[in-house]
Amino acid sequence: MAFKRLDGLSTADLAGKEVLVRVDFNVPMQDGAISDDTRLRAALPTLEFLRANGAKAILLSHFGRPKGQIEPSMSLAKVAPALGALLGQNVKFAADCKGHIAQNAISQMQNGDVLLLENTRFYAGEEKNDPQLAKEMAALGDLYVNDAFSAAHRAHASTEGITKFLPSFAGFSMARELDHLDKALGSPTRPILAIVGGAKVSSKIDLLENLVAKVDYLAIGGGMANTFLASLGINVGKSLCEPELLAKAKAISAAAAKNKCTILLPQDVVVAKEFRADPPVRTCLPNEVASDEMILDAGPKSVAALSAIMEKCKTIIWNGPLGAFEMTPFDAATVAAAKAAGKLCQAGQLIAVAGGGDTVSALNHAGVADEFSFISTAGGAFLEWMEGKALPGVTALEK
Ligand code: AMP
Repeated sequence: MAFKRLDGLSTADLAGKEVLVRVDFNVPMQDGAISDDTRLRAALPTLEFLRANGAKAILLSHFGRPKGQIEPSMSLAKVAPALGALLGQNVKFAADCKGHIAQNAISQMQNGDVLLLENTRFYAGEEKNDPQLAKEMAALGDLYVNDAFSAAHRAHASTEGITKFLPSFAGFSMARELDHLDKALGSPTRPILAIVGGAKVSSKIDLLENLVAKVDYLAIGGGMANTFLASLGINVGKSLCEPELLAKAKAISAAAAKNKCTILLPQDVVVAKEFRADPPVRTCLPNEVASDEMILDAGPKSVAALSAIMEKCKTIIWNGPLGAFEMTPFDAATVAAAKAAGKLCQAGQLIAVAGGGDTVSALNHAGVADEFSFISTAGGAFLEWMEGKALPGVTALEK
């Protein structure tokens, strides 16, 4: 992928420079404390590189949805000490992302310092991609680095507008993400298998339509597989199903056939009469589901068939669980398939990239997070990329 990278710059380009870095510090909080600092850690390689090269790092981020108002509960002030602890250096905070408060704080910075600016979404112009706001933020620095892939699907002032005013580069975390995504779907080694699960077809129509044109095999699992089974005339009983999308499911299957993409549906299913953990269950063929039963997971034959396809493939791209994985025993297919993919990845036989929504927690639950080639923690941006859409924050960094 041809985009401008921060690691293409040297000390000569960076020493003494004021570098605006767009990070995604929209971290989950519980009782006033950061409950998961993954997003802070993701920024460390870029910040350490800037420090090592004598630049001043000035960080821009959104936090929550203040909708253009100053919302003290959504201030980024509390994030600065947590970042400082990870970086091993004091991180100062400025209570505005533009104007004299930010400028004053920047004027006091030494080379190698890090300054976090206040929530960009305190200005309505952020989400409107207002050129005036973008220009005022750009006025704070000499260079711009975007290290927030997870915010790159939105054309906002701090992700896209600002790039019109400053030389702009992808940070380390952004570049790592783009490189892996490119290997998985941009220019993948074939054959390629996409595994798409999750609750509903309705939220993944664009994604399925894009994938059938690009991959060799498309495994459909989770609640959304029920709609595909129903489109074949199978009675799925009380299962989650979207009858209004049967024609869409047929159209997607037809497009797959036209593109020589093989669709894999569950060959056997795990059913229960109640949607709760550990109810009485049985495994049956999809056309054996009784009218008072619901499909809550794929069965062992389905997993074996999927694993056999994995053996033939060189690349896997995965979004969405194969069953209602939050409840036992309906995590079984997701866990078994994830382990099979993780093992092949570890053996160097394939590249497996996953991401989006519940996928991260499903794969963490399966204990394979470290075995996959890459797991993206970006939700919406990962899905939009899988849908084949251009991400404005990324397009703005292209050469
Ligand atoms: P998504 O956010 O679209 O990836 O959907 C993830 C959700 O789909 C999870 O909460 C799963 O519990 C749910 N899910 C997966 N399979 C089923 C199923 N067969 N029936 C109901 N919900 C399911």
